[in-house]
This record gives sequence, structure tokens and C-alpha cells, in this order.
Amino acid sequence: TGCRVCLTRNMSSSPPRLQGCMSAWIIDQYGSNGVLKYTEEITVPTISSATEVMIKVHAVSLNPLDVAMRGGYGAKLLKLRRDPLSVMDNDSEFPLILGRDLSGVVVDCGSGVTHFAPGDEVWAAVPPWKQGSLAEYVTLTEYEVSHKPKVLSHIEAASIPYVANTSLSALVNGGGLCRDSSSNKRVLITGGSGGVGTFAIQLLKAWGAHVTVTCSQNAVGLVRGLGADEVLDYTAGDVVEQLETMEKFDVVFDGVGGDTEEWAMGLLKPWSGAKYVTLVTPLLLNTDSMGLLDGTLNAGCSLQSKAIQNLLSSGVFYRWGFYAPDGPALDEVSKLVDAGKILPVVEAQFSFTQVPQAFQKLEKGHARGKTVVRVA
Ligand code: NDP
Repeated sequence: TGCRVCLTRNMSSSPPRLQGCMSAWIIDQYGSNGVLKYTEEITVPTISSATEVMIKVHAVSLNPLDVAMRGGYGAKLLKLRRDPLSVMDNDSEFPLILGRDLSGVVVDCGSGVTHFAPGDEVWAAVPPWKQGSLAEYVTLTEYEVSHKPKVLSHIEAASIPYVANTSLSALVNGGGLCRDSSSNKRVLITGGSGGVGTFAIQLLKAWGAHVTVTCSQNAVGLVRGLGADEVLDYTAGDVVEQLETMEKFDVVFDGVGGDTEEWAMGLLKPWSGAKYVTLVTPLLLNTDSMGLLDGTLNAGCSLQSKAIQNLLSSGVFYRWGFYAPDGPALDEVSKLVDAGKILPVVEAQFSFTQVPQAFQKLEKGHARGKTVVRVA
């Protein structure tokens, strides 16, 4: 099809801007893998404000959220976040581009951008309410972007931003942990072999915490290699029984959900500020099924009642953790990666033509790190 993106200059004083169409994987409706469509007719997302950075995407990694969003998960709340006042001409979120992580190169910057210039290698986690990264170009605000670690390829770098922003937001805001307060803190991570777990183990070890992990038998070597101090195979016998024989924890970081909270609260040190933080929350499912107001109220009431109940009965905090876009947080991660303290864990790679296969891989579960798509 030849070159579809070109530099144009509309007014003598304005900088040249990329315009035209780009290739992307889109969905026009929610559903199973069949709704994923390749197109070369998506308008390039040009800079529309002074603080925006336009990035040529080189690699993308997938997250469970991509599979869930393909099926309509979170549609109501994300639509509200995209267009809170319903002022957009087009009332539809389609065509929707999935893909949250990216590693790439800056091609254009708004006039107020101070930290980036064309040619910079960057990484970012694209917020779910913005058009995703399974595309040739993405435009984000400067605050959401960070310089990629120098020691990583684009493929490796793309495996980190979304799980890093999620882990940092949940562990810092929910778990009360940070670089200077984690030394010798005892942390339990459930689901240690997936995207979030393999990152969080390394972050917490870099911060000096003592890390215990639950995972399947065939992931024990992987998580030990990433630095976990104690590893429990949840498929071999009663993992709760084994955990109950151990010294109690300061933080439980739960990436599994389900009934985990029922037994994990009892593993926390009582009356000492210990915290349970789960990533598996009912917020978006509730707003999808009950509507925005009822869903949010229902989720809020459930969170408050569990928080109060646990605080009053044993002095432990019950919290929900969420992804939050944060370029400066990624700057800190970049330093840890360049210092060799955090390694990328890329389990599988796919080409841009194989995006549906990459989704299939994710849908099978049992992740051992991340699945990455090469775009450029
Ligand atoms: P992954 O799919 O990458 O990893 C999940 C891992 O958990 C797999 O390695 C799986 O391997 C393992 N696992 C499954 N069941 C258990 C169990 N009972 N005990 C221990 N390990 C188990 O997911 P992510 O790491 O990316 O995310 C984890 C969860 O957090 C997901 O539910 C995700 O949707 C959620 N999340 C929420 C966010 C938020 O903003 N609230 C942001 C990011 C993630 P195996 O089955 O072989 O044991």
C-alpha cells in the first residue's frame, strides 16, 4: 500500500505533523477472538494538545485486561471516562484499539513537552480509556510516558509498563510500601508466576522485602530465579495450611482473587498496620451488570464493609489495588532495570500479523511472565 503517513505543514508557524492512515488491530463490536480485525485505515492519532507525545510503536505486550475488554468488560465505566459529558460527536467507542503496553520511539511532541524529543526511545502503559497500542502510532500525554531502559530491546521493554504501573500503584498506595520502607517487610504474593507477579517479586526484592510466593509446581524455578525467598506450590496439597505455619505477613498482594481474601486476612500480623491488597475487584463487573450508579455504589459498599469489619476484628487493612498511569514511576523502574535489578520475563512473542494468536495464548491462562507482539 506504500507510505500512508506523511509530514505536512499547514501554517507557516506550526510544526510539521504526521497525518494520514495507519495500520492497527481494532474491534467494531465486543465478542470472542473473531471480532479482532486488522485494518490500514485508522486515522493517525495526531498531537492535539501542548503536552502530548506521539510515539511510533515498536512492541506491545498483552494483559488479561485486553482479553476482558475485547469481550466488553468495563465498557460502561470506560465510556464514561472517555467522554464524561457525552460531548463527543461519535457516541460509540468503536473502532476500539486494544493493547495497553508499548515500547517505541517519539516522532512528534506538543509545544509544551519538556522531557521528550523526537527520536527518544520510550515506554508507557496506555490507560484503558484511551486508544490502545496495537497500532503503528499512539499519542499520550507526557506524564504517561517514560524513557525506556537502555539495556532492553523494545520487545523486552514492552513486557513491563502495565504490570509495573499496577504493582507500584497497588503496593505504594494500597500496601504502604516504597523503596525506603520495605526493608525486611514480609510480603506474600499470590499468583507469582504471571505478568504482575514476576514483576512484583523483583521490585519488592530490589526494595529489600522478604517475599513469599504461591504458584504452580512448574513455575517454582522461574519465581525462585527472580528472587522469591519462599515458594509454595498451590497445586500440591493445602497451601493455606502451609502458609499458616509461617511467620505472619505485613502485606498480602493478591493477583488471584476468588476465595483468597477469606484465608489471606488471617495470615496478616494483627494490630500492626498490615494490609491485604487485591487486584481482583468487582468494580467494573458491577458497573457492567448493574449500571454506573448502582454498580459503583454496590462496589463501594462492599469495599467499605469489608474494610471496617477487618479493621475492627483484627486491625488489618483491606484494600483494592488498581493500575494508574504514571510516567515518573516508570522512570524509577527504568533505573532498576538498567541496574540489573529487574529483568523482563517474556514468555512468548508474536508478529503483528499474529495478534489473534497472541490473544488465544493469553486466553489459555497459565502465564509465565508476558506475551509480546512485535509491531515494527
Ligand atoms: P496473568 O494471567 O499474567 O497471571 C496470573 C497467574 O496466576 C498465572 O501465572 C497463573 O498460573 C497464576 N495462578 C492462577 N491461579 C492461581 C492460584 N490459585 N494460586 C497461585 N497462582 C495462580 O495475570 P496478571 O499477573 O497480569 O494479573 C493478575 C490479576 O490481576 C488478573 O486477574 C488481572 O486481571 C488483575 N489485574 C488487575 C488490575 C487492576 O487495575 N485492578 C491491573 C492488572 C491486573 P497457573 O494458572 O498456571 O497457576
